[in-house]
Amino acid sequence: MKEGLLIVISGPAGVGKGTVVGKLLERNPNIKLSISKTTRKPRPGEREGVNYFFVSRQQFEDDIKNDNFLEYAEYNNNYYGTPKDFVLETLKNGFDVILEIETQGALQVKSTFEDAVLIFILPPSMKELYNRLKKRATETEEEIEARLNIARGEIRLLPKYDYCVINDNVDKAVEAIEKIIEVEKLRTRRF
Ligand code: 5GP
Repeated sequence: MKEGLLIVISGPAGVGKGTVVGKLLERNPNIKLSISKTTRKPRPGEREGVNYFFVSRQQFEDDIKNDNFLEYAEYNNNYYGTPKDFVLETLKNGFDVILEIETQGALQVKSTFEDAVLIFILPPSMKELYNRLKKRATETEEEIEARLNIARGEIRLLPKYDYCVINDNVDKAVEAIEKIIEVEKLRTRRF
């Protein structure tokens, strides 16, 4: 059996990564999502083992010591990491795996998995990103400005990614990613 493809998706907060990834999973049963561990507190509506595995700083640091992460990073004063076993086993079983992670982690993955495909999701414009963050209404003007600043820093890393997809329409963004996966499977002889 051919190993699955490791797909890394990054993009600034508010770009709609979650919606795009959700649709991609719905339409492609051969793609599985890796659930990360984080030390951040759950937001209303988030569920253990669905959105994240929520752990203490101590537990996370033990996992680092025990080499349990494929990659991990500190973002906004919290740790986020990808559990290694699930990803390796799922790829071995022939499924493609998506990691929805920030840029530092994405670059770590690329340095260990040459065949990993790095996809960056961009908003149609910074103005539109501002509007989307504003619509979420969960953040103050100051927090929105801070998020936009983080986004500008992340976007600077775009040249290190293999592909960039602009999310001005969710269905089109999903179709673009499906095409990327198809091409990358041909390129890395996974058919
Ligand atoms: P949030 O707190 O909004 O859920 O996530 C903050 C950022 O952390 C997002 O960019 C998200 O993609 C990223 N993230 C989530 N899980 C992981 C992970 O396991 N590793 C890394 N490096 N980033 C992650």
